[in-house]
Amino acid sequence: MDIAFKSVTKNYGLITALKNITFKVNKGDFILLTGPSGSGKTTIFKIILGEIKPSQGNVIINKTDINSIKKRQMEEIRKKIGVIFQDYQLVFDKTVEENISLALDIIQDDRQNRLSKIEKVLKTVGLLGRRYLFPSQLSGGELQRTALARALAIDPEMILADEPMGNLDEINSLKLIELFKQINSENNTTIIMATHNPYFINKLDYPKIEIDFGEIKNQPNQTSTNTGKKKKKIKIK
Ligand code: ADP
Ligand code: MG
Repeated sequence: MDIAFKSVTKNYGLITALKNITFKVNKGDFILLTGPSGSGKTTIFKIILGEIKPSQGNVIINKTDINSIKKRQMEEIRKKIGVIFQDYQLVFDKTVEENISLALDIIQDDRQNRLSKIEKVLKTVGLLGRRYLFPSQLSGGELQRTALARALAIDPEMILADEPMGNLDEINSLKLIELFKQINSENNTTIIMATHNPYFINKLDYPKIEIDFGEIKNQPNQTSTNTGKKKKKIKIK
């Protein structure tokens, strides 16, 4: 999935959350969206998901301007995006397996092969043995990997991860990042991971879009590398 923001501004009343932002993310990119708390990272995700509209500017997803599409088309795009949050957002009275099944209900996945699909994603995140447990019985790392399995079940073209390490210790954070890396390189899934944590911002060698007070401070140039193997595909406009 390709995304382009073109001179996007977002005002919440008198608050300007994004100021004239322009960037591009290409299919297969793994991007860190960095910036302090309040800089506008979640606002960017909400715009991509169609939850809020830009006040000005254009957002192009897979060559379609989302300002000018019908609700139904936006829903189709939304079904291709897996989302992961800091606080997991699992349904607490459903098991791991049922949580994943709920996501498949939302995209109206037919019930055929559903169990094998669920097993496959649970295997990917190493949680097959936890399928019948409830969220209250899982550790933080396991909760977040359940959320990742749920995101993967819809076979996403893109994953948006909003501060996914926010409640995890270092070991579990690195394990999660390894999984993102694996998914990105095996499936060519576009991944945008938002973090304000300077430790990960410094440690992770991925192309970074840095924002501060709603403005882009820095973004990848064309000579840096993605995972070290692939040529990076972000372009500065
Ligand atoms: P980040 O995710 O980087 O922490 P956000 O995108 O959540 O930043 O917020 C950016 C700015 O927009 C902040 O100043 C925040 O207070 C403001 N903001 C976010 N959502 C709303 C809203 N619904 N109403 C008013 N202001 C908002
Ligand atoms: Mg945020």
